[in-house]
Amino acid sequence: MSEQGMQATGGCRCDTNPVRYEYNGAPFEVHYCLCTDCTDISGGALALIAVVERDAFRITQGEEKIRNFDTKATAHRRFCGDCGCHMFLYVDPFPDHVLVHVPTLDRESQVGGEPDRWVFTDSKHPLLAIPDDGLPRHPGWAPTPTAAS
Ligand SMILES: [Zn+2]
Ligand SMILES: [Zn+2]
Repeated sequence: MSEQGMQATGGCRCDTNPVRYEYNGAPFEVHYCLCTDCTDISGGALALIAVVERDAFRITQGEEKIRNFDTKATAHRRFCGDCGCHMFLYVDPFPDHVLVHVPTLDRESQVGGEPDRWVFTDSKHPLLAIPDDGLPRHPGWAPTPTAAS
């Protein structure tokens, strides 16, 4: 299932010296998150998250522009200090992974995986309608089924 040759690239919205990042291979998993911690900081109704192994992830440009904001004690969110784009975060319960905000990938870039579930649906904004996509919906956090073993 892993796509060995695949490389995903993304970055912030700066025209000059943007922050650029990449990861190699398929993410560990991809999910839709409706928690208010993700949505409020992103100004969006949902977050689309790729959970990527830290060893597969690296900053390739503009690292000096990256700032941190802890939305809670366990969530360390990285954004560009110039354009404000929130690209990825580190969360203490996932010490081996970085959580990438998929929409900050280049649009032509491969993601390397498809979302497999919706989490924190109890926090869904009333104006957002979850599409009838057949994916499992979890009121709070739930791991990807493949993570159980
Ligand atoms: Zn920027
Ligand atoms: Zn979230």
